[in-house]
Amino acid sequence: MLSLDGVPTSSLFQVCNTPHSGRAAFATRSIPANTVIFRSDDLTLSVLLREYRREVCAQCFMYEHGRDLKIRDQAVGFAFCSEQCQVKWQADTGDVGIQAWTAVEKLVKLRSKEDSEMVDADLPRPSRKDITNAWNSVEAQANLIRIARQEFRVRVHLNGAAEVHTNGDVQVTKQHRKALQKALLNLINPDIMSFCVSGLLWIFNKPEERERVIRLAADPTPYHSVDDLRFFTTSYLHLLAIMPLPLLSLVTTENIFTLSSRDSHNSFGIRSLEDEGSEFFGYGCWPAASYFNHSCSPNVEKLRVGRTWEFRAGKDIEEGEEVCITYLSGEERKLSRGKRMGTLRKNWGFECQCERCEVVL
Ligand SMILES: [Zn+2]
Ligand SMILES: [Zn+2]
Repeated sequence: MLSLDGVPTSSLFQVCNTPHSGRAAFATRSIPANTVIFRSDDLTLSVLLREYRREVCAQCFMYEHGRDLKIRDQAVGFAFCSEQCQVKWQADTGDVGIQAWTAVEKLVKLRSKEDSEMVDADLPRPSRKDITNAWNSVEAQANLIRIARQEFRVRVHLNGAAEVHTNGDVQVTKQHRKALQKALLNLINPDIMSFCVSGLLWIFNKPEERERVIRLAADPTPYHSVDDLRFFTTSYLHLLAIMPLPLLSLVTTENIFTLSSRDSHNSFGIRSLEDEGSEFFGYGCWPAASYFNHSCSPNVEKLRVGRTWEFRAGKDIEEGEEVCITYLSGEERKLSRGKRMGTLRKNWGFECQCERCEVVL
């Protein structure tokens, strides 16, 4: 169960504010091992990495040991394990969403040979100032593109209904069209573009749920590297140039930054269900699941069942005890204290103070 703002509610635990570790969930009664304490089926945005698109179902994330799935939709660039999954995906994505994915796929396919790799050097992450400067530096071009796209809207209206839009006082000139063409020449990172499209479509399709993501802890510096940040700003310009018109007003720096800052420390990896999740297909944001804190020796285990996370008591839990999951993958759980702490610091932005890390060796 979820409250209206997306906080999990249960007869077994309660989410409260704590003085030191933000929000946390505490058992409200003793919970025997193996009890399912919560199911989180509130997936908001998700990214299926491009290299797994043929092998992992876009709807239920099913994977058949690397075999290509039966049903492939070339136009949107996704594959499905069954017709049922395809139909459900189409219904959830909606017509505008399908148009958006089709536009992205067309662009990425044309340019696939130029796919650009990011250098994951251990350089400092872009600071707040770097981030503000980067977004400000593309805003003038973004505004020109918006105007160029509006010309299209005027044309569509003129061809269709009798209604004529005057498009304010702004005359669309060569300069506006050039800004749009120039944006399309930028290098593309298809996974970053998918992140933005998935997030914007979620805001479009579920405006009433936007608050659930806004309420999550925000990371003010969510970009891993200068390259990462640059691909976000160029994706922004690309999307202004190609998104279907009903989505255009949502393509803003504010929306794209908000999605990154909330996703940064709140997303879960979508991994294979065998081999301790050694295959990393992508990631997604399930806001309710973010209310469980991390421990390196968790009392709750999480298991992905399709698009849902199931949380099950891994041991007997006493009343009043904090309910914790682990944010580490199967392999990472076996790391030494120092390496675990490093991984948590880098990927999740906190110093682990769990019981296992506190034990002085
Ligand atoms: Zn499926
Ligand atoms: Zn720990």
